[in-house]
Amino acid sequence: MRAIRRLTVRPVLPESLAALGELAGNLRWCWDIPTQDVFAHVDPKLWHSTHDPVRLLGRVPASRFDELAADAEFCAKLERAHADLRAYLAADLWYQRELTDAPRTIAYFSPEFGIAATLPQYSGGLGILAGDHLKAASDLGLPLVGVGLLYRHGYFDQTLSREGWQLESYPLVDPDEKPLTVLREADGSPAVVRLAMPGGPDLRARIWVAHVGRVPLLLLDTDIDPNPEHYVDITDRLYGGGAEHRLRQELLLGVGGVRALRAYSRITGAPVPDVYHTNEGHAGFQGLERIRELTLPAEQGGSGLSFDDALEMARASTVFTTHTPVPAGIDRFERSLIQQYFAAEGGVLPGVPTDRVLALGAEDYQGGDPGMHNMAVMGFRLAQRANGVSQLHGHVSRDMFNGLWPDFGESEVPIGSITNGVHLGTWVAREFQELMSEVGADIDGDPEAFARALDGVPFSRVWSVKRDLRERLVLDARARLRASWLARGAAAAELGWIDDALSPDVLTIGFARRVPSYKRLTLMLRDKDRLKRLLTDPDRPIQLVIAGKSHPADDGGKRLIQELVRFADDPEVRGHIVFLPNYEIGMAQTLYPGCDVWLNNPLRPYEACGTSGMKAALNGGLNLSILDGWWDEWFDGQNGWAIPSADGLADPNKRDDLEAAALYDLIEREVAPRFYDVDHNGVPMRWLEMMRHTLESLGPKVLATRMVRDYVTALYAPAAAAARRLNGDAHYAGAVELAEWKRRVREAWDGVRVEHVETHGVDIAPTVGSSLEVVAHVALGGLSPEDIEVQLAYGRTGDDDQLSAVQVVPLALRESFEGSRASFGGSVRLDRAGAFGYTVRVVPRHELLNTTTELGIAALA
Ligand SMILES: *Cc1c(COP(=O)(O)O)cnc(C)c1O
Repeated sequence: MRAIRRLTVRPVLPESLAALGELAGNLRWCWDIPTQDVFAHVDPKLWHSTHDPVRLLGRVPASRFDELAADAEFCAKLERAHADLRAYLAADLWYQRELTDAPRTIAYFSPEFGIAATLPQYSGGLGILAGDHLKAASDLGLPLVGVGLLYRHGYFDQTLSREGWQLESYPLVDPDEKPLTVLREADGSPAVVRLAMPGGPDLRARIWVAHVGRVPLLLLDTDIDPNPEHYVDITDRLYGGGAEHRLRQELLLGVGGVRALRAYSRITGAPVPDVYHTNEGHAGFQGLERIRELTLPAEQGGSGLSFDDALEMARASTVFTTHTPVPAGIDRFERSLIQQYFAAEGGVLPGVPTDRVLALGAEDYQGGDPGMHNMAVMGFRLAQRANGVSQLHGHVSRDMFNGLWPDFGESEVPIGSITNGVHLGTWVAREFQELMSEVGADIDGDPEAFARALDGVPFSRVWSVKRDLRERLVLDARARLRASWLARGAAAAELGWIDDALSPDVLTIGFARRVPSYKRLTLMLRDKDRLKRLLTDPDRPIQLVIAGKSHPADDGGKRLIQELVRFADDPEVRGHIVFLPNYEIGMAQTLYPGCDVWLNNPLRPYEACGTSGMKAALNGGLNLSILDGWWDEWFDGQNGWAIPSADGLADPNKRDDLEAAALYDLIEREVAPRFYDVDHNGVPMRWLEMMRHTLESLGPKVLATRMVRDYVTALYAPAAAAARRLNGDAHYAGAVELAEWKRRVREAWDGVRVEHVETHGVDIAPTVGSSLEVVAHVALGGLSPEDIEVQLAYGRTGDDDQLSAVQVVPLALRESFEGSRASFGGSVRLDRAGAFGYTVRVVPRHELLNTTTELGIAALA
C-alpha cells in the first residue's frame, strides 16, 4: 500500500535530554566533534549509518532515551556540549572584538549551499564555498544571514549502469526530517512571500530557517497550497529544467529572497541588512527588488526615490562575486524572456521600468549578443564592489568584462579578487584536529598556530595518523565499490577482488570534481599504458581514487566518466584505480584526509579558484596541480608540485599530450620516489618535511576564516560605509546627489578634452633620475575642475606605442580659465632606463565613487 501523504512525527525527548533537540537543531554539530560524540553515544550504529542527528533522534526508541537519561556519563557529555553551544552562540568573537562601525547585517545570497551531507542543496564548488562562508562567518561572529532556495530533490544521487554510464536519481528532501523550522507569524501561521507572476496567480513561498551556528539561513520553498503544480515545481531541483524554470528560480531567489529577509526582520526583530552579497549572478534580481522598494511612494511604505537614485543606493550596498572564467558558464537569458516576465500586465516588479531592467543586463559592448540578458553583467552594474575568487581569476575576469569599462586597461577594471578558503572544522579530519589540539595549537582561533602545530609532533606520530586516515579511506572505498558493483548487476561471488582493492600503504592520489570539460577528468588516460605501469609498479606503485558527477544534461561529461570507469574496470588495474560514484560531502570528508596527493589538472585558466586541493592540504596532502586558480598564487616551489601548463598552445590535443606527459613524469620521478624514500623506521622524512611545509605555508591562507575576514575588510565594511554616506540623513541626500552628478557628467563628457600637453625636463636625452614635468590644458565641457581628475599615465612602451605596466599619478589643478578650461600639472621621476611613454587622461571624480573607473569613461589626450 502506498501512503497518500507522509508526515514526520518528531520525537518527544525526556526533559533531562531536551538539550539533544537543541544540539540537533543547529547545524554547528557538523563541525563540532564533541557534539558528534554525543550523537554517536545515543546510538553508535545509527549514527555511523546516518550522520544525521534529526533522523537519529527520530528513530531511537523511547526506552533508549530513558536509559540515556539515567546514564551519568552521557548526561555530563550532553551538558558540556550544550553549554558549549550556548557559549558559542553568545560569545564576543572576532567581529565583536575587532570591528567598530562595521555592517549591521550582511545578507548572503546563493543558489546553493553545501553545509552537511544531510542537506544535499549543492552541486559542487559554488555551494560548498557558500556553506563554508556561512560556517566561517559564524565562527568569526559576523551578523550574516544566508538566503537560498530549498530544493525538494536537491541535487541528484549518482550511480552507474553496467556499462559505466552515469544514472541519476533524485531522492526527496523532506524538510520535516531536516534541521529546519518554518518561519511563522506571531499568530502561528507560516510567513508567506508572494511574487506577482505574469498571466497567473501570485507565486507563494514559505521560508525555512536553518541555523548554521550563529548564522540563520533562509530557504524559500514553493511546495505549498494554493500554488498550482507548475509553481510548486519551481523549487523542485537544483539546475534542472530549461531557461524559464531557471528564471523563475532566480526571481524567487532574488526578489523573493529580499522579501523573505523583510519578513524575517519584521518577525524576529533582527536588523535589516545593510550589505547584500550575491554569490554569482543568479541572485541578481535582489538589486531590482531593493530598487523597487526604494522607488515605491511613501504612502505605500517606500522612499519615493527616482530609479537612478535608488540604483545608487542599491549599488553602494551590494557586493557581487563572479565565479566562472568559462564564458559558457555565465548565466544568461533571452531578452524576450525577461521582457515577458517584467513588462507584462501583472509583471514581477510593477513600477520598475522594463527598459531599465534590460539595460542593466545588456551585452551592449563589443562582442556582446544584443539578444541576451547577462546576469553577470547585471551583477556588475548593480554592485559598486565586485570580485573574482583568486588573483588569477580576478585578472581573467577583468579581461573578460573589460567591455563594461571600455576606456580602461585590464588592470584598472574595478573587479578585485578574494581567494576562496575552506572551513577548518568541516574539512580537517578529527584525528588531525586532535593531534594539533594535543600539542596546544589553538586550531579554531589562531591559524598561525594551526599551521605550526606539526612542529611539536614527532614525524613518526604524524605518519601513523596519516596511515590510519588512508586506511579509513581504503575501507570506505571498498564498501562503496562493492555497493556500486552490486548495483551494476554483479554477483557477490564475482567481487572477491574488492577485499584487496587499494592498500593502506600505497601512495594514494585523490582526484574528485564536477565533470565539466575544462576539469579534464580523463587527462590521466592520455597514455593508458604509461598510467598502467605507474599503477602497478612493483616497487613504487600508486593508487588513484576518483569521483565526480556530470551535470545531468551533459552527455559529454558522462562519456568522460564512462571512459574512466571502463579503464578502472580492467582486471589488470582495478585494484589500483577506483571510481567512486556519488561524490558528496560525506564521501569527501573521508577522501581528502586519506589522500597523500591531491591531483588537479584543469585547463588553465578555467579553474576560477578550486578548493579541493586546499582541503587536502589542511589534512597533510600535497598538491600536484596545474598552476591555475589558488595554486597559481600559493605554490612556492616546495609545498607540492606544479604540472607545467602548455596554455599558449593552440592545438588542444597537443596541449593535453604535453601536460599529461608532464604529469606522468612528475609522479614517476618526483612524487613516488619521495614517498617511498623511508628511513629505518619506515618513515618518509623528506615527504613529511614537505607536508609540514605545506601546512605552514598554506595553513593560514586557505582557511575560510581568512577569506571571510578579507570580505569584511575589503568589501562588506566599505559597502556599509558607502551606503551610509548615501543615506546619512535618512533622506538619501547622498544617493540623490551621486545620481544627479553622474547624469551631469555623462551628459557633459563629450565636451571634456585634453587640449594640449606641455612637457619639460625630458627634452634632450633624459637619463634615469630626470624628472618629467607635465602641464595639461583641459576643456571642461561645462563641468567644474572638482568633477574631474586629470592623470598622467605612464609606463613602458613597445613598438606599437602601447603602454604597459601603466602607473597613474593625478595632476594638480594649476589655473582655471573662465570656468570652461583649466590647467593641471605635476611631475614624475624616471627611475628606469629604456623605452618610456606617457599620456594624459581625464576621468570623473566624486567622493562618493569607489574608483575613478566606475563610470567606465575617460578622455584621453
Ligand atoms: C570541495 C568540494 C567540491 C569543490 O571542489 P573544487 O575543487 O572547488 O571544484 C565539490 N564537491 C564536494 C563534495 C566538495 O567537497
